[in-house]
Amino acid sequence: MSAWSPEHPDALDQLNQRPQPRPKVAVHKFSSCDGCQLAFINAGEALITLSQLVDIVHFAEAGPLDAEAEVDIAFVEGSISTPHEKERIEQVRRQSRFLVSIGACATSGGLQALRNFNSHSAEQWTQAVYAQPAYIDSLETATPVAEHVKVDLELWGCPVNARQVFAAIRALLFGVMPLIDKDKLCVECKRRGNVCVLVAKGEPCMGPVTHLGCGALCPAFGRDCYACFGPAENPNTHALARRFVGLGLLPEEIAHRFHFINSHTPAFRSAGLEWAE
Ligand code: SF4
Ligand code: SF4
Repeated sequence: MSAWSPEHPDALDQLNQRPQPRPKVAVHKFSSCDGCQLAFINAGEALITLSQLVDIVHFAEAGPLDAEAEVDIAFVEGSISTPHEKERIEQVRRQSRFLVSIGACATSGGLQALRNFNSHSAEQWTQAVYAQPAYIDSLETATPVAEHVKVDLELWGCPVNARQVFAAIRALLFGVMPLIDKDKLCVECKRRGNVCVLVAKGEPCMGPVTHLGCGALCPAFGRDCYACFGPAENPNTHALARRFVGLGLLPEEIAHRFHFINSHTPAFRSAGLEWAE
């Protein structure tokens, strides 16, 4: 290509229009059900648009395989539950500019973190659950990604939805961190005009302590929230538990409300333990 000069006025334009390398994106799976990866696949047309803007270099569930590729954005689904995953997440961190954990398993350890309460050892659990426990190599605990490596952004939910994932990608491609609203689900419920199932139906809704982001999906269908988006900022778990007593829940039932999908988060773990005995 010739250099810019008054005799070649469009050479600079040509230079500026050179194709830039497209950002590289990877989606890595750890211990999980794959539901959060479906947030990408369910995006349909938006996924096709995304594939024109970025190179999706590793996404086993959708096809591309290159687990060791250096990438700009790595999405990580799943908890760290095996010795191999402990090594693998460190490798993913080294080869990724931004690391985004997606879904309850990756952000809080997920359902599998229920084993962290130490009532049984990992060996006892695998013997109780699997026909051939000798093939299972498991850590004593299932823990969130952030307990092992630096995480740049956490997207909560079980599963996350396409709206969250694509908003995050859009912001990161513009070079800014996405703004995540950490308010309570009740705010989203009010915006949507839902009838409150806690007040109107006496259901033990976890909305007052739960992170918004799902669009108040369950109350919109007349059922209580079970907190799959994890704790909101400054959740008043004690007041909500007292309200559940007023609704007639037994201490064990209150403990189960907090010790469910996000039991390993400090707020829900301690709130549940207050009522567990
Ligand atoms: S239904 Fe649940 S989330 Fe909605 S306003 Fe009532 S308590 Fe809050
Ligand atoms: S309402 Fe609660 S349980 Fe239902 S999707 Fe939203 S956060 Fe999850």
